[in-house]
Amino acid sequence: ERQETISVQACVDYALRLFQSRLREGNVMVEQHWPDEILWVTGDLIRLEQVLVNLISNALHAMKDTENPCLKLSASQTGNKVMIRVADNGPGIPETHLTHIFEPFFTTKTPGSGLGLGLSISSRIIDDLAGTLRAANRLEGGAQFELTISLASSPQ
Ligand code: ADP
Ligand code: MG
Repeated sequence: ERQETISVQACVDYALRLFQSRLREGNVMVEQHWPDEILWVTGDLIRLEQVLVNLISNALHAMKDTENPCLKLSASQTGNKVMIRVADNGPGIPETHLTHIFEPFFTTKTPGSGLGLGLSISSRIIDDLAGTLRAANRLEGGAQFELTISLASSPQ
């Protein structure tokens, strides 16, 4: 397993960059809120990036019929942990689905467009990083995913 230390901001940025053309084509507004200080994380960060890609991909899919689609990415520090939030203003997640979305093969997508593995793999990855991944609906509408992992000390 690879070990590296990078900033959360850079990790989100790498993931976001993959969606550049999709964001432009869909006229998706991207709002980002970062704390002033750099938040360092350590581990096999390709996998953290994979989780972020999954969450962003789901958010964009959820907003495909949304009038003014807006993707919100933010991070905040609490003690030695960082919480990364990926939020959208799509239709949200039906309450009855909330407990099932992390199960393998659970999908509401049409056959061929989703395997239903994104979130189950993501929660495995975050488990391995000793973190947590939670889904919720936002009061303003839309869904949000909160990912919490431990911070690392800054690289030498
Ligand atoms: P897939 O994307 O292949 O369907 P996932 O495991 O990534 O599989 O997601 C499972 C299901 O969770 C989705 O099919 C959808 O019903 C729901 N979901 C995930 N993210 C969102 C979101 N941002 N808004 C609404 N529903 C979502
Ligand atoms: Mg998915």
